[in-house]
Amino acid sequence: MTNLGLPTVPAQTSRDVGGGVAFAVKGHHFTAPADLDVAALAEASTVPLSVIVQVTKRCDFDCTMCSETLQMPDPTLDQLNMMRQNLAGVGRIFLSGGEPLMRRDFSDIVDMWHNDAILAVPTNATHGKVHARNIAGKVAYANVGWEGPRAYFQRIRGDYDKTMASTRALLDAGIPISMSTVVTRSLLPALSYTAQIGDVLGAGKLKLIMPLRKGNALKMDESEFITNEEAEAAFARLAADRTQYRWTPALRLTTWTPENEGHMIVIEPNGVARAWPVYDEKDLWLNLGNVLEEPISEIWQRYPYKVNHFNKYLGRTIATVSQGA
Ligand code: SF4
Repeated sequence: MTNLGLPTVPAQTSRDVGGGVAFAVKGHHFTAPADLDVAALAEASTVPLSVIVQVTKRCDFDCTMCSETLQMPDPTLDQLNMMRQNLAGVGRIFLSGGEPLMRRDFSDIVDMWHNDAILAVPTNATHGKVHARNIAGKVAYANVGWEGPRAYFQRIRGDYDKTMASTRALLDAGIPISMSTVVTRSLLPALSYTAQIGDVLGAGKLKLIMPLRKGNALKMDESEFITNEEAEAAFARLAADRTQYRWTPALRLTTWTPENEGHMIVIEPNGVARAWPVYDEKDLWLNLGNVLEEPISEIWQRYPYKVNHFNKYLGRTIATVSQGA
């Protein structure tokens, strides 16, 4: 009961997105019953579970492992509205970049999209203070790229203190955060510190991703690329530390196996939809169509990675440790 004697409303812990799939509000990931036939669900579905929309290619960082370095004009609000209409039915939309918060009209974009899907914002957070209050309550979470404590972060990414201050601005406005880390060999000693930072900030999850050979990552020393086995061993050590120190963020590790090939659908600023990463394609992209010209349901029919898409986003082909575990 509240102080006024009114019954309290339990906090929402998950959001139903259909087909037996729900979105875990605290852990920022999809869930489904263990016996769900994911392949059957994927084949019967008419739209993706999750799509990444690049609202800009611009960025104020130049991370050593960034796979995204090509530039093109930002989509206009009218073009974004057309994309929004053609993405009807998609469960979660990442409003991504480049760095999406560099758009001065980013809160207008959020206002346009937030009733249509669960919104998430992958960001370096440097412009978090500008937008935090206007997007609070409309985005499910911001996913902040985070490689290690200050010395590592500044070598790989950029201004640690600016990202920290702006992340706190997002949190102060009531926007939940998660974190993602691109795992390279020289970063391995810093993974536990990253998890500790995530715990202090109250991150919903810490997502580990392997680098892909594209963009700036092509200039990284070959020794920085670890094998899937090395990544899985590092993840196991991190999961053990999480238990020992009682850190709360969920953990995720995505490795580049055949089961995860092409699982992401990325919409570029010009509306072109790509499957990503497709290992034998130039630049790891497979062109699927254009959401300024046709609905995602048409594109989905010719998308060859439906099962990979659902399996990955339901945590079946990645390493996972959930909140409460
Ligand atoms: S990884 Fe993200 S933050 Fe870093 S340069 Fe690329 S788009 Fe910008």
